[in-house]
Amino acid sequence: MRRQTKNRRSVFGLNNIFNGTAASGSCLPPRIRLTTRLKSTCCLILLSLGLTLSTFSRAETNPQYDPKPDPMPGGVAVIELPVSLGTEEEPVVYFQGKRVFVMNRPYNKKSDNRWIAWVGIPLSAKPGKMPLVIEQPNGRSREIMINVLPPQHNDNYVVTRKAAQKNLTSQQEQQIAQDDETLKRLINRWNGKAPDTRTFLHPTRGSQLRDFGDRVFLNGELLDSHNGIDLSGQRAASPADGTVVMIRDLFYGGKTVLIDHGRGLFTQYSHLAGINFRIREGQRIRRGEEIGKIGISGHHIEAGKDYAAEIKRAHLHWGVTLNGVYVNPKLFLVDAE
Ligand SMILES: [Zn+2]
Repeated sequence: MRRQTKNRRSVFGLNNIFNGTAASGSCLPPRIRLTTRLKSTCCLILLSLGLTLSTFSRAETNPQYDPKPDPMPGGVAVIELPVSLGTEEEPVVYFQGKRVFVMNRPYNKKSDNRWIAWVGIPLSAKPGKMPLVIEQPNGRSREIMINVLPPQHNDNYVVTRKAAQKNLTSQQEQQIAQDDETLKRLINRWNGKAPDTRTFLHPTRGSQLRDFGDRVFLNGELLDSHNGIDLSGQRAASPADGTVVMIRDLFYGGKTVLIDHGRGLFTQYSHLAGINFRIREGQRIRRGEEIGKIGISGHHIEAGKDYAAEIKRAHLHWGVTLNGVYVNPKLFLVDAE
């Protein structure tokens, strides 16, 4: 239903633009009135626009975008920064010592043109006030408090009393530690390049098989939190323009690709069966470009049983990070509930 309403609104919006263009044409002063040739070109453009109207996706009609604000552990706080910062220089903002994504534009109809910060809140954060530190040009820093709301974890967590046999070889343990270190280092890298501001495309067009934040407890102690969402589908595509910064076979993630979208926003694709041969580390990837085929590579922890269980059902594990923390990817999908 939401999809239909939005589409209708977008189409009306475009019609209004067309009507407006036609009306203003006749009001132009004689000197810049459209020539017949120009008019026919305009008609052709309008005609072709009309023909392609049905193929317009909502992404193109909703070119500017923010994640859905959800200021709780594992969520994203979308914060309007003070107008006094001006608009010319990009403010340097930190959360828990990590540089934060900022974007300069009106956030909603009511707001003016000011900087907006997207702050990723770690799953481990405690509810309450947390400071956002803004470095000012005068060298002094100032703080804004973010009110982190209590978590609303889904109830799909697994509690186990039987300890899993840590059936990992020392080589596997070493690889797991190396994998974690590599990912951590990369998602904490700062690339100030302006990111793609269009709405994220769904990476698989499939359905969700496992939620973000699903937890596994062992004797009441948290053993594992799911730091992404699992999606069904055939192939994974990039939801936005970016740069491929890692292609690696990880112990848990299997064949994994990491994309840097700029300003601390990264997306991760795991358990792939194969990676598109055109995808190379260090190269740009376009929104909608295929990353690879979805598969069962890698392993997972099976509560109470196995630390190196095989993945049985093909799926994409999709992760999204901001300021070095994994956040709920669903907040970046317009249609996600
Ligand atoms: Zn997963």
